[in-house]
Amino acid sequence: MAKLKRDVVKYIRDKAKNKYNKGSACEICNSAEALDFHHFYSIAPLVHKWISDNKLNPEYILAIREDFIEEHQAELYDHTATLCHTHHVQLHKVYGRDPGLGTASKQMRWVEIQREKHNGMV
Ligand SMILES: [Zn+2]
Ligand SMILES: [Zn+2]
Repeated sequence: MAKLKRDVVKYIRDKAKNKYNKGSACEICNSAEALDFHHFYSIAPLVHKWISDNKLNPEYILAIREDFIEEHQAELYDHTATLCHTHHVQLHKVYGRDPGLGTASKQMRWVEIQREKHNGMV
């Protein structure tokens, strides 16, 4: 069942993404092109933590993914940012591919600082 385990996060993303409220411009540079949706709380570590905290069997992910989404509305839909692809890649260069959950507020501050830099306020 190794394959299923790897797909657990994908199943959650597939189900959650139709409600993503993507903005119409990058929150840093205001570009309206090639926009990405960034989660300050990375979904992969969130899912793994939820499964292990609740001692769930990932084999049943299709049956339990709604529960995950319900319990993580804030992380999935609120603590997010719309970024152009360039700034999204930059953020992940700083914080890694799946940033640790403890870095969420640092990432938010990073976005704010980049926006201020971009607007010439620094
Ligand atoms: Zn940008
Ligand atoms: Zn991201």
